Amino acid sequence: MVTSVRRHRVRKKSSSPKPVNGRNGDGAHQPTRSQGMQVSVLVLNRNYMAVHVLSVQRAFCLLWKGSAEVVSVENDQYLSYDFDGWREISELKAELDERDDSDDWIRSVNFEIQVPRIIRLLRYDRIPRNTIKFNRRNIFLRDGHCCQYCEKRFPRQELSLDHVMPRSRGGEDSWENIVCACLNCNVSKGGRTPQEAGITLKCTPVKPKRNPLLTRQITLQKYESWRNFVCSSD
Ligand SMILES: [Zn+2]
Repeated sequence: MVTSVRRHRVRKKSSSPKPVNGRNGDGAHQPTRSQGMQVSVLVLNRNYMAVHVLSVQRAFCLLWKGSAEVVSVENDQYLSYDFDGWREISELKAELDERDDSDDWIRSVNFEIQVPRIIRLLRYDRIPRNTIKFNRRNIFLRDGHCCQYCEKRFPRQELSLDHVMPRSRGGEDSWENIVCACLNCNVSKGGRTPQEAGITLKCTPVKPKRNPLLTRQITLQKYESWRNFVCSSD
């Protein structure tokens, strides 16, 4: 369990590094180890409650603007860093070659910085309404990229959305009526119900209780520190 909060503020340097935004082409900012730009960052409100999952780019943007700080869980303590503090800690870690294989790093033109796993908004203390976007990405994530008929996992491009009760029969676009299906199963089911097609749904589709990305990430070792803020049974 995390026992206390310690602040690490480092005096701002006179040089002003540009925010890390992952632009390519001009050579200014290039992702480095572990495809750092692909990872997610958990966002807490001022009261340390998980409110969002953001991309690395958005997270660094908030840090650079001073709207957020890094929260790092180290030796059972929460340590917080502003952008410059986090940058200095990252540089030190790189210098001493203390980078862990599970860490993600981003390189800008002047420096390399570790991707934080968690940031905390310094002025936002609301708890946002639990609005989970009903879209293709979240349905795939809810179903674990697994066809709900043949129960096999597929890459995203080989998956489709299937109306359990076909649209032509009044089936709605809803969490309860749309599932992830592989192309083969979708075509062979056609405009029929699963019962008519002689196939069985892996499980009854429901609206997720929380962001499906969050649900998936907290099961991964990489995002272990998120578990301090997100209950696995939420
Ligand atoms: Zn299938």
